Amino acid sequence: GAERIKTVLILMSDTGGGHRASAEAIRDAFKIEFGDDYRIIIKDVWKEYTGWPLNDMERQYKFMVKHVGLWSVAFHGTSPKWIHKSYLSALAAYYAKEIETGLMEYKPDIIISVHPLMQHIPLWVMKWQGLHKKVIFVTVITDLNTCHRTWFHHGVSRCYCPSKEVAKRALVDGLDDSQIRVFGLPVRPSFPRTIIYKDELRKELEIDLNLPAVLLMGGGEGMGPVQKTAIALGDSLYNSKEKKPIGQLIVICGRNKTLTSALASHEWKIPIKVRGFETQMEKWMGACDCIITKAGPGTIAEALICGLPIILNDYIPGQEKGNVPYVVDNGAGVFTRSPKQTAKIVADWFSNNKEELKKMSENALKLAQPEAVFDIVKDIHHLSQQQQQRIPVFNDFSY
Ligand code: UDP
Repeated sequence: GAERIKTVLILMSDTGGGHRASAEAIRDAFKIEFGDDYRIIIKDVWKEYTGWPLNDMERQYKFMVKHVGLWSVAFHGTSPKWIHKSYLSALAAYYAKEIETGLMEYKPDIIISVHPLMQHIPLWVMKWQGLHKKVIFVTVITDLNTCHRTWFHHGVSRCYCPSKEVAKRALVDGLDDSQIRVFGLPVRPSFPRTIIYKDELRKELEIDLNLPAVLLMGGGEGMGPVQKTAIALGDSLYNSKEKKPIGQLIVICGRNKTLTSALASHEWKIPIKVRGFETQMEKWMGACDCIITKAGPGTIAEALICGLPIILNDYIPGQEKGNVPYVVDNGAGVFTRSPKQTAKIVADWFSNNKEELKKMSENALKLAQPEAVFDIVKDIHHLSQQQQQRIPVFNDFSY
């Protein structure tokens, strides 16, 4: 029969690039699997509907990660449950009205949170409004290992964990086995599930067809020792005896404009491309042979799908720390904070250690989970169908 189009509200925040990427991944997978059966709305709800400090989260986050010590305190300081509970409940009471307006405007059938701070408040508001039985609320965790406890809320229908490690933490925090699913981190379906045509991509992106290429980045904000590493690579990838490059460099600076202009005005002996925020990361990754990045979960999951060996050169304390052993222990990459060391490793991979590059690429592909996002949306669809059987549906879905 003709089924009502369901509305899915995805709650995210533009801190870094990872939450948006996950939200878009889920939206695109819904579209591919279910066409127009679902209407997907991605919202940075806090930014639009609430006052300080939540709508200021983005700026605060940027400030704190730049001063890593502060972020460390914020991350660990809010870990005991009673602290974040009372803090968030005070905020919830204060901002409930605005959040309620947001919920009423979209009338979602399903709410998906891809943010560690977007469980408690919407669930509280839903309960006050008596919507918690009508609306399905699920959490999609986007940290691979050491994640913050605010991700876990007992009131969710599902908590999608990207790894067994995170699922273990969810269990320890008291979630029930039946709420937990482990499918992997959602990655945008535009990242290829099959073979990559490197030559085609290189032609399209106008990069050298023959030289091996290293991609250097630092998440959505262009963080970590990107500039020093680029300059070190400029030396290590140039063979001064033969006066020719042994590799080429692609730097994606994200929203870091200072970095973009600093690198653009530097003199280079090797072929290089310096880019700002790119919307088609799958093409740049597909065209390269390895990647250097901070330990962002989004970038790591995408690089694995593209079979790129990963040099991790930094991590945000707290939630990104556990991503390092995830990559290194599985043989898909290495960790070093030294730009010189990084540059040496890449030069080595591109000259006399091609074997290691190949082996790590294979390991990366083994770890990759390109299907995860599809497993997640299919499971949500399943939940929504179960819900329909339990609760009579009215054409005019009354909130
Ligand atoms: N990203 C992008 N364009 C850019 C830089 C980054 O689309 O120019 C995406 C990248 O592909 C990844 C996300 O931003 O999906 C970064 O997420 P990650 O978890 O690695 O780090 P975050 O930026 O959230 O700290």
